[in-house]
Amino acid sequence: MAERINHQWRLAARPTDYLTEANFQWTEEPLPVLQDGQVLVRSLYLSLDPANRGWVREGGSYRDEIPLGAVMEGGAVGVVEESKHPNFQAGDHVQGMLGWQEYVVSDSKGLSKLPNMPGLPLTAYLGLFGHIGLTAYFGLLDITDPKPGETLVVSAAAGAVGSIVGQIGKIKGCRVVGIAGSDDKCKWIVDELGFDAAINYKTEKVSAALRRECPNGIDIYFDNVGGEILDAVLGQINLGARISICGMISQYNSAKPVPGPYNLINLLAKRAKMQGFIVTDYMSRAQEAMKDLGAWYMQGKLKYRVDVVEGLRNAPTALGKLFDGSNQGKLIIKL
Ligand code: NDP
Repeated sequence: MAERINHQWRLAARPTDYLTEANFQWTEEPLPVLQDGQVLVRSLYLSLDPANRGWVREGGSYRDEIPLGAVMEGGAVGVVEESKHPNFQAGDHVQGMLGWQEYVVSDSKGLSKLPNMPGLPLTAYLGLFGHIGLTAYFGLLDITDPKPGETLVVSAAAGAVGSIVGQIGKIKGCRVVGIAGSDDKCKWIVDELGFDAAINYKTEKVSAALRRECPNGIDIYFDNVGGEILDAVLGQINLGARISICGMISQYNSAKPVPGPYNLINLLAKRAKMQGFIVTDYMSRAQEAMKDLGAWYMQGKLKYRVDVVEGLRNAPTALGKLFDGSNQGKLIIKL
């Protein structure tokens, strides 16, 4: 058989602000001959995530930094092309941290076989039925315990995580107010996803809009963005409010330290709780979430959309869509 070549994006330089193509190097190398106990996986869809920016930061974030020269890491779904491992067969669809590359030779550690769900596109395993769904499910339900009639505010509300959080909030009987960065996104979450109201933070003053849309105050905030929006929400929380810190995308590219929220003192006055989490904390409970997410999806109560960009070559540029807000749903590279 002709020698197969693997192409990759390797981290070439740490960014000082935005992560761009200049921070990567496009490389190629022949694939090694498969050994006993190994599988050869061809990547099909690669997940691009805001967290990718944190993984390349010097000193790391919640995990060690990706070393310079290493293949950029990323979750992906792929197909087994060849197997010398007893648990995998050619043709199996699998998921794991396959990285920004076309192929991976794996000893199967961290590789899981995908169930065969007829009619469900493979991209769903990087979204609603993957880490995105788990993040929304546990970040909302485990950390904030929403009750019917409570007011839930979610930021980056038209994004992958935020759009699912808002819909779960509706399933739990909350008044759900989403904050997003365009009129189209605001219209989508209200008209298509059933949010009660939406605020375009780029055209409205958020604190005034929150006063209008949350007349009974804010019981729960699911934070994807941090910064000024977090501060505006903190200014209007109710007694016993719960804040789930999922992400702070507004500060991922900051070269300088970011000032803390002015209204943090309200946590004290309102006996409120603010807690961060990382989705991997919940992996042992994934089945619990999948059961509910699957049922709600089948009942038509959960919708999601994916933004698929063609070509691994475009991964570094496409990542920028998460930071300028031009992604329409879960951002994925089709290899
Ligand atoms: P999204 O699909 O939500 O895309 C990111 C969105 O963030 C953009 O579309 C944009 O939407 C918004 N955004 C970008 N910059 C800013 C800014 N400066 N201020 C306000 N909004 C901004 O991505 P994900 O759903 O994958 O991720 C959402 C958040 O969840 C991120 O913070 C991410 O790090 C976090 N996350 C955390 C996990 C965890 O384990 N804790 C796991 C997965 C994700 P808009 O047009 O509305 O501005």
